[in-house]
Amino acid sequence: MAFPKSVSICDVGTRDGFQAEHDFVPTAAKIEVIDALVAAGLRKLEVTSFVSPRAVPQMADATEVLAGIDKTRGAEFVCLVPNLRGAENAIRAGARAILLFVSASETHNGTNVNRPIAASLDGFRAIMDLALRHGITVHGSISTAFGCPFEGDVPPAQVASVARAMHAMGIGHIALGDTTGMGTPPLVRAAVEAVRDTCPELRLALHFHNTRGLGLVNIVAGLELGITDYEGSVGGLGGCPFAPGATGNVCTEDMVNLMHELGIETGIDLDALCGVARRVETLVGRSLPGQVMRAGPRGRLSPLDCAVRAIG
Ligand code: MG
Repeated sequence: MAFPKSVSICDVGTRDGFQAEHDFVPTAAKIEVIDALVAAGLRKLEVTSFVSPRAVPQMADATEVLAGIDKTRGAEFVCLVPNLRGAENAIRAGARAILLFVSASETHNGTNVNRPIAASLDGFRAIMDLALRHGITVHGSISTAFGCPFEGDVPPAQVASVARAMHAMGIGHIALGDTTGMGTPPLVRAAVEAVRDTCPELRLALHFHNTRGLGLVNIVAGLELGITDYEGSVGGLGGCPFAPGATGNVCTEDMVNLMHELGIETGIDLDALCGVARRVETLVGRSLPGQVMRAGPRGRLSPLDCAVRAIG
């Protein structure tokens, strides 16, 4: 199958990425990064999360972040909400798009939100009613779609069943998340095909982690399946810097570089995006895993006086 001509890339760095940072990222810096990402051409961003500030202190400034960002360029700013109260707070703060999440694995859902999958899905109904009343877009995300750290393989039929339940509620756009980087190209194909067989109308996005070095490989598997929506985080933000091996999201600029080299349009200025990634590295005060921000695109040539003679 031919690759898509263009793709839509959502940056989740300021939510999924910053959330894992130990030190509080100042509100003004979060706003600066979001504005810079939009200026670089990103048109969909997961910007913040309306969760309890006790549970996630890093997201305590969700209202201020949403109020402060530049909304004039036509980007969609998605806010993650864990429950009805979060959705109410997001809407009160002016959110126009919210994201509901549930795991495909029963055990992971239990550890993540302390309730069975069915209870999570039940809880979505009241949020859907609220969103409908306010004309808010609702997106969905299914965690552990390609494997669960507690259960191992997650049957594609289970992923499809969760997707069908969310789609039946009126959620038209769902991301399959590779929460702990267990996805492989065959598993991506199996999950995508199972979901498509069950709900052909659903628009699917893919969210990979580079935990085992397969992030971009899995994206190519998605492209081969004709998927046009991908998520990444600027600089590769995410994971936990204090947990060795807990590598974060696929890096957005590395993904954009891949897309451009495959002749796929993203609408994103790669040089500008690499500049944002380097700025984020300064903000968090440590090296991030992104590679293209360091090496530059392959078309960037080195000056001859940088050459080092290997012999003599
Ligand atoms: Mg992630």
